[in-house]
Amino acid sequence: MPSNEAVVPLGRARDPRDTLGRPMRDLRISVMDRCNFRCPYCMPRETFHDSYRFLKSAERLSFDEIVRLARLFVSLGVQKLRITGGEPLLRANLADLVGDLTAIAGIRDVALTTNGVLLSKYASELKAAGLARVTVSLDSLDPETFRRLCGGFDELGAVLEGIADAERAGLVPLKINTVIQRGVNDEGALDLAARFRGTGIVVRFIEYMDVGNRNQWQQELVVPSAELHARIHARWPLVPLDRNYVGEVATRYAYADGSGEIGFISSVSQPFCGDCSRARLSSDGGLYTCLFATHGLDLRAPLRAGASDEELLSLIRTRWTARADRYSELRATLRAGVAQEPKIEMNYIGG
Ligand code: SAM
Ligand code: SF4
Ligand code: SF4
Repeated sequence: MPSNEAVVPLGRARDPRDTLGRPMRDLRISVMDRCNFRCPYCMPRETFHDSYRFLKSAERLSFDEIVRLARLFVSLGVQKLRITGGEPLLRANLADLVGDLTAIAGIRDVALTTNGVLLSKYASELKAAGLARVTVSLDSLDPETFRRLCGGFDELGAVLEGIADAERAGLVPLKINTVIQRGVNDEGALDLAARFRGTGIVVRFIEYMDVGNRNQWQQELVVPSAELHARIHARWPLVPLDRNYVGEVATRYAYADGSGEIGFISSVSQPFCGDCSRARLSSDGGLYTCLFATHGLDLRAPLRAGASDEELLSLIRTRWTARADRYSELRATLRAGVAQEPKIEMNYIGG
């Protein structure tokens, strides 16, 4: 049984700050390193081929282990959890985990990021288990571009049905994540905006990032949010909205005609490391303090060796208080370095 004894002394020890004064407020939990897509910008097929060695199930954290760690993170200040992957809906009985996570005292929000293929199948049970909201990744409404961007699967229809079923199940406000690449899918951005304007669904355009080591990222492929904003604003005037909370990654806008909201996540052109309060737990129990981290802290080994809650808390706290990550702010300098260390791949720690 996971322990409930994660009560720690008040003050800084309970709400640790990193070297830049940033608290830990969000935890992204990758529950599955595998995926049923092969998006070239995340898990290119050349690397993630049929004989790629994914984790064995015993290597992934069990639900009990995830819940125990999540409780400890919450006791250190985390208020929001996001379940991600790889593709989280490939993890069997995910709703059970959702139920356990939503029951943790102190959690304000549990959300899920998915490619949407299996959403129709699971939306109702996820909602019943306590999931609040879902974010679906969708890069294009054009079947051929969609196919190319997910690595060759004809699943656009399934994803759109998944979105509709998630809404019907009440997993709202539903957000759509769209990674934009110049000359690949930027022309379709207005179609996506048009399709979801006035529906209550919020489309968020994400600048293409140099995550992992294998997506052949080039700065030229990034469409700065300012440029995309200008294109959309010219068609449907936009008015800026205030941030919902400190550390929010998307810059939000409302359509001036009252047709809802849209967002831009500009981690390349306008890095937001200054108030980044996100920790990440990989499928095999590594703690990563940045999306672009090169090293994680193994929590699985001590967990399985019988560490007490206090010992685990001390490990997490020590790691967080030593955190100095601000990759996006230093991207140009770090990328210019001669010998870059390999970064963690995104399917281990989620977006
Ligand atoms: N499989 C799920 C999905 O696609 O929603 C969850 C995991 S996926 C790694 C999480 C998010 O990261 C997705 O919205 C995806 O589009 C985004 N992502 C992956 N690679 C990216 C990249 N190179 N640049 C920007 N976003 C990326
Ligand atoms: Fe899979 Fe999501 Fe990565 Fe695409 S972005 S390969 S759906 S984990
Ligand atoms: Fe946070 Fe790292 Fe992204 Fe900066 S680059 S916002 S520190 S995850």
